[in-house]
Amino acid sequence: MRRIFAAAATVLCCASAFAQPQIDYSKLEIRTTDFGRGVYLLGWQGGDSLILVGDDGVLLVDTSVAQMGDKIKAAIANVSGKPIRWIVNTHAHADHFGANEALAKDGALIVAHEGLRERMAKGQYLAAFNQTIPPSPPAALPKITYADAMTLHFDGETVELVHVPNAHTDNDTIVHFKRANVIHASGTFGGAGAYPFFDMSSGGSLAGMTAAEEKMLSFADANTKIMADEGEPASTEALKATHDMLVALRARVQKLIDEGKSEDQVVAAKPIQGLGDSWEHAAGFLNADTFTRMAYQSLKGIRPPAAR
Ligand SMILES: [Zn+2]
Repeated sequence: MRRIFAAAATVLCCASAFAQPQIDYSKLEIRTTDFGRGVYLLGWQGGDSLILVGDDGVLLVDTSVAQMGDKIKAAIANVSGKPIRWIVNTHAHADHFGANEALAKDGALIVAHEGLRERMAKGQYLAAFNQTIPPSPPAALPKITYADAMTLHFDGETVELVHVPNAHTDNDTIVHFKRANVIHASGTFGGAGAYPFFDMSSGGSLAGMTAAEEKMLSFADANTKIMADEGEPASTEALKATHDMLVALRARVQKLIDEGKSEDQVVAAKPIQGLGDSWEHAAGFLNADTFTRMAYQSLKGIRPPAAR
């Protein structure tokens, strides 16, 4: 019988960050890091945010969980006295849009891929975390949506929003700050030393992750700072290493599938050996076997349950 992979309960990652009652958000602090050219990272171990500040105000990428909204607001106020004008949500996991309503209520316009608005409006079920996200109130939904790509011009910076289909989810936006040479990867990159998570309940896939990473590599140079879902910004070299691992693993798993191997047989064959040992999260959110199982399911087109 096929096993559904499950996340370690204590891990603070991405889709799981918003719905874990044991997390004491009052103890989490925002770390502000200056990336230069008006771009700052607001890090808190979850769906980390970026801001671009200038004379026109503040552009905020991802609003974090609802419980962190006041801290995000305070961290922004420490950098700029200007109001938030634009909010970009990178994807419809609640650690990326949870504080939308609170942070947009002073007039910020929320922008996102059209699929994000649809998922937020309808509500979601994430099988990997056995979590239900209720529908969002109208005030939290994006006012402006796009299908393939969009460009925001803000205080001399060119902010490119690029949709990458069926990657971490089916509604990811890669955010590229051209002047600052910073990329927010949505969830399409796990950062240095971590397997990247694709959420098949939300339309994510192995093939889409690989394509998303290729898209980011086409924007990046040796000095680009790349924001993964959480943690320290990673280098182009780290992104390339993850991409190459995904390509090699995909070929190996596909070969085993073509030979008629079952899911358990593919996992037992350890196709990731020699490719992925160094990618495992210290906390064990995704290990080699779990990631191999995800790759198998994605390549076979196995859909996770819609609800339990
Ligand atoms: Zn996510």
